Amino acid sequence: MKYRDGKGLYTKIGMVAGGICKKEGIYYCPICSKQDLEAYGEVYIHREHQLQGVFVCPHNEAKLKKYDIDKTITSRVVFIRLDERNLDFNAEYEKNERVNSRLLEVSKAAYYILTSNILELNKDFISKKIRNFFIKKIYYQEIKV
Ligand SMILES: [Zn+2]
Repeated sequence: MKYRDGKGLYTKIGMVAGGICKKEGIYYCPICSKQDLEAYGEVYIHREHQLQGVFVCPHNEAKLKKYDIDKTITSRVVFIRLDERNLDFNAEYEKNERVNSRLLEVSKAAYYILTSNILELNKDFISKKIRNFFIKKIYYQEIKV
C-alpha cells in the first residue's frame, strides 16, 4: 500500500470479488439524527456511520439507513444536507442476535479506531495490549495451554 497505488488491497480483502458489500451513499442513524435535531436543530452526517463494514450505530445498535440523495444533481461537487423531511426516524434493529453481536462488534471497533489517538500507539503499547489480551484469555481458560 505504501509503495503502490493500494488497489491490490481491495482484491486482498475481497472487495473486487464482491465478497464484501460496498457501502455507497450517505448513511444515518435514526436515533442519533433525532438527538441531533433536538439538540442542534440540524441533523449532521456522522463519520462513524459512513465507514465500510459498519451497518449498525456503535452508540445505540440501531440499523443505519441510507439517505436518499437527489439523483437529479449531476455535479460531482455538491453540498449535501440531511433534510429532516427525507429522514426516517423509526429505529430498526437486527433481529438475529448472533449477527447483531458481530455487526455491533465491528461498529464499535471501527469507532474506537476512529476516535483513538493513533499517534500514541507504538510497539511497546501494542505488545502490552496483546500480552494482556492473552493473559485474560488464559485466565478465563478460553485458550487451552
Ligand atoms: Zn446512533
